[in-house]
Amino acid sequence: MNFEIYKQLLAEIEPFGAKLIAVSKTKPAEDIQLLYNEGQRIFGENKVQEMVAKYEVLPKDIQWHLVGHLQTNKVKFIAPFVSMIHSVDSLKLLQEIDKQAEKNNRVINCLLQVFIADEETKFGLSKEELIQLLASKEFSTLTHVRICGLMGMASNTEDVKKIEAEFAGLKTIFVELKQAFFPNEPAFKELSMGMSSDYKIALKQGATFIRVGSMLFGER
Ligand SMILES: *Cc1c(COP(=O)(O)O)cnc(C)c1O
Repeated sequence: MNFEIYKQLLAEIEPFGAKLIAVSKTKPAEDIQLLYNEGQRIFGENKVQEMVAKYEVLPKDIQWHLVGHLQTNKVKFIAPFVSMIHSVDSLKLLQEIDKQAEKNNRVINCLLQVFIADEETKFGLSKEELIQLLASKEFSTLTHVRICGLMGMASNTEDVKKIEAEFAGLKTIFVELKQAFFPNEPAFKELSMGMSSDYKIALKQGATFIRVGSMLFGER
């Protein structure tokens, strides 16, 4: 772990007012504790079991963000404590989060994952699917989820212009959905985009959360 890189990264994102999610997947709890000691409180994981195991042994004021694909049958394990779920990509999943949140007397913060890359493997909803979900009667009855914004992953490419265009496209969808569905909801304000390789581009395109793993914790 290189604390110099951590400090530099914080200084770099500070002018943008964005927040850093330290993506600690595959890294031991000891690494998280070290960064925690430096002041970091938001950590990201992509697997439910791993997040639960780390939650149990680490300080309770850590805010745990789930950034990876989430299966409906696993929502119950993180519902008691998760701070935000970035990877909501279906109504069915949202309904299950709502149900488990209610059981825990909580409202769970969620981001809707948008498909912006040109790769088959990346999860997420299209703009049309987002509109359909948000306009649905089923969605309007949910009481224990709070939609805080959108998340996206750009294509894995060196082509800066392409990444820029994908993030800009996500920002445009964010503005349109905000106007159409959340005009009076201040909670809908987050744009989670940018990883180790492209966070600089994401910040310029309006990211409010960047999700950085390998740059902080080393290669996986
Ligand atoms: C692993 C992961 C990250 C962090 O990626 P790095 O390239 O290690 O910075 C960000 N977002 C998601 C969804 C991830 O799975």
